[in-house]
Amino acid sequence: MTKPIEVRNPRTGKFDYVIIPPPPRLLAQQCKRSRRAQVSWQKLGLEGRIEALQQWKAAIVSERDRLTEALVNDTGRLSTSILEIDSFLSSIDRWCRLAPELLQDSAKNTAIPFIALQQTSVPYPLVGIISPWNFPLLLSTIDTIPALLAGCAVIVKPSEIAPRFVAPMTTALNAVPKLRDVLTFIEGAGATGSILIDNVDLVCFTGSVATGRKVAEAAAKRFIPAFLELGGKDPAIVLESANLELATSAILWGSVVNTGQSCLSIERIYVAESIFEKFYHQLVAKAHRLGLAYPTVESGEIGPIIAERQAAIISDHLLDAVEKGAVIHCGGVIEDLGGGWWCRPTVLTQVNHSMKVMTEETFGPIMPIMPFSTVEEAVSLANDSIYGLSAAVFASEAEALEIAQQIEAGAISINDAALTAIMHEGEKNAFKFSGMGGSRMGAAALKRFMRKKAILIKTNATNDPWWFDNES
Ligand code: NAD
Repeated sequence: MTKPIEVRNPRTGKFDYVIIPPPPRLLAQQCKRSRRAQVSWQKLGLEGRIEALQQWKAAIVSERDRLTEALVNDTGRLSTSILEIDSFLSSIDRWCRLAPELLQDSAKNTAIPFIALQQTSVPYPLVGIISPWNFPLLLSTIDTIPALLAGCAVIVKPSEIAPRFVAPMTTALNAVPKLRDVLTFIEGAGATGSILIDNVDLVCFTGSVATGRKVAEAAAKRFIPAFLELGGKDPAIVLESANLELATSAILWGSVVNTGQSCLSIERIYVAESIFEKFYHQLVAKAHRLGLAYPTVESGEIGPIIAERQAAIISDHLLDAVEKGAVIHCGGVIEDLGGGWWCRPTVLTQVNHSMKVMTEETFGPIMPIMPFSTVEEAVSLANDSIYGLSAAVFASEAEALEIAQQIEAGAISINDAALTAIMHEGEKNAFKFSGMGGSRMGAAALKRFMRKKAILIKTNATNDPWWFDNES
């Protein structure tokens, strides 16, 4: 028997839910069953797979109230949970629309006139997906949908910190027997994730750099592909030519939406010194308008800090910054309200790169602002990071485009913030320690789940010129 794991409610601090990880032997057996079922799933063809996914979507819509309630209990927030469900449902439609073209095999002539090429792809039989707690539903399904359409079987292990949504998802899944055999949600923590990696053919991991490294090592030992989507410390650069009203509103949203618990949150802001004072006064004024979603989930915009360990990290970064001379203009404390941990939008100035708040992932609603005098300095500060997930630039479009070319990150939003959270069409790779592997966004995302197979056909009935028996 494996040990049950108690789950904390982020609003009340009470441990009011329990998950029971599968024993390793049963998980290995489940993987074998999924791999067997994958054969029929692949044979079903794309049309059949699309039909099954659409049936699942309809079943999820019927479970919507339960799913919303579970997500609210997992994360303590309402509007973001609704957004998560909507984005997940629309991602099923988007992938079902795109897949037919993306999965088409092609026949080609080759450089050798009598050899034809059939370029085909075959799915990896079993994909393992390991996801974090900050967007429990979205991040456990973002890779699941394209993998299923590609013809893979999928086993998902969501975070042990936010696992309540699995129950309604599984109820909906049970309504679609064809899909139920090839899609399984399992409960558990790191140990279960690590056993999963030992039993799958490809792993998609979203989480911290520290765990990502362990996942990459485990996958490398088995020679299986590992797609890693890891942490970030996204910079925003604001030039004198920026529209200030627009920049402060966008940066506020990009920094504190979901209480800053997003990999692509703006976590450091560099502002031209000529507009620095005006910028931070405006940002502070706008930050003051936001309230905590307390005492009810509908009270305000800022939900609780979901993971208790994250509250300690945010507090440590703030303390470290203040000890080194930073000034806090609003927020700045972790409050205990009703048993949950909360932090109001926090603006800091007098910050520099000796501080954790400017160099390590904070994952909270914290906006440290630093002035710069030249564009070169701004770019060099933005690139002074082990991370390279995404970034934002606010300036005239021409200036911003030039800066975007120089920033070491996979996606740059211009005159807006965190656009990759909303728009999934642009392909991007994580730079530096923010990840590894093919793009999770755009058409390339689906192709990650296929192995290419070249079928080479000799089309004439004469000896090839390079064979031995051609010599006269
Ligand atoms: P985490 O690394 O602690 O855990 C992530 C998942 O890995 C969990 O499901 C956990 O149970 C599992 N796990 C832990 N140890 C494991 C092991 N040895 N083998 C296999 N699985 C293991 O991360 P977290 O605290 O849940 O999530 C926050 C982090 O995720 C942040 O760093 C954030 O930036 C990152 N994140 C990245 C993206 C992205 O798209 N780049 C998106 C969201 C979150």
